[in-house]
Amino acid sequence: MKIAVLREAAAGESRVSATPETVKKFIALGAELGVERGAGEGASIADGDYEAAGAKVGDRTATLENADIIFGVQGPDPEALAGAKPGAWIVAGLNPFGAGSDGRARVDAYAAKGFEALAMEFMPRITRAQSMDILSSQSNLAGYKAVLLAAAEYGRAFPMMMTAAGTVSAARAFIMGVGVAGLQAIATARRLGAQVSATDVRSATKEQIQSLGAKPIFVESVAGIEGEGSGGYATEMSEEYQKAQAELVSSHIAKQDIVITTALIPGRPAPRLISDAQIASMRAGSVIVDLAAESGGNVEGAVSGETVVKHGVKIIGAKNMAGTLAADASALFSRNLYNFLSAFWDKDANKPILDEEIGTAVRLTQGGKVVNQRLLG
Ligand code: NAD
Repeated sequence: MKIAVLREAAAGESRVSATPETVKKFIALGAELGVERGAGEGASIADGDYEAAGAKVGDRTATLENADIIFGVQGPDPEALAGAKPGAWIVAGLNPFGAGSDGRARVDAYAAKGFEALAMEFMPRITRAQSMDILSSQSNLAGYKAVLLAAAEYGRAFPMMMTAAGTVSAARAFIMGVGVAGLQAIATARRLGAQVSATDVRSATKEQIQSLGAKPIFVESVAGIEGEGSGGYATEMSEEYQKAQAELVSSHIAKQDIVITTALIPGRPAPRLISDAQIASMRAGSVIVDLAAESGGNVEGAVSGETVVKHGVKIIGAKNMAGTLAADASALFSRNLYNFLSAFWDKDANKPILDEEIGTAVRLTQGGKVVNQRLLG
């Protein structure tokens, strides 16, 4: 059983899908590891560190030769897999729904080439899969970094400061979407000394917001709403709810200095939460970070990978935030992959054999076809 760890080819991707720590662990399970030269460079891991852990470092062709499993942070370009065995597993974040991404076309190409593609972002939200969930591990870092970015771009301080020259008032930060990224954003903004408020469509988050010392801002005027759908994810809200939410946000946002938006709905474009008129109501110098910019954006006018200024407000369209913390993001991502495959490792067969529940959820292609219901349905 050979696992190939590829150097990421996507522009700006500095993470890597295995670290010397997980290389050692996979070797202890009975696997052989091939690592493409320079794969760890962006995450400050030298080729020699992989060799010391027991991997063979070589060029792409040598790394792919006879590999049974091919790792990636993002899905490798199908054209760059020449020489890989048909039937090999591709284990990576494959982003088949990404707005404007070629993720879906890649999945079709993997099927045509006979690879079995496993999308790690399709890991089900069940207790035993928590340690395998790349969305959680990467979102957590993204939520933290979004606040740091906002603080760096904000021309004022976050905490209240009483100085001999006068008092600096605390920044007011509003977090929209309180999943994994939002919770970390609340905690980080609080640590920096901001006054924090937050909102979500899932009522369970109210208590979580309070437990972190922030103020919940919730639509109370629409009776019987609950935004929690299957697997703990949000659902798309009714028009009535969206209108009430927009009114609530309008009255609140004008008093905010920092806004971090993180709202996502799986398989759908990100919900639009902030309009241009609402941005215009904010004080000049305020900062908005749109963590959903890559999925269509929560903020009108946000551009993924760019900072634009509208009405004096900086709007940062976040792109691959976790990748800006490449060393930690890679360590957690790699452990997610190890936790996933080791949980199913069959000692006699010396390979992972997935069970029905998780296998069906993550498998996108098999036997030359796209087989995942989320892509077919
Ligand atoms: P996500 O990234 O899908 O979405 C981010 C947040 O945006 C969510 O809290 C969502 O409710 C919110 N949102 C969506 N539409 C909105 C709107 N119109 N207005 C305001 N907010 C909106 O979410 P996530 O970070 O993946 O977390 C979702 C839930 O799943 C959380 O409760 C999390 O703890 C849970 N979770 C469970 C597991 C597990 O059990 N394995 C793993 C990860 C997350």
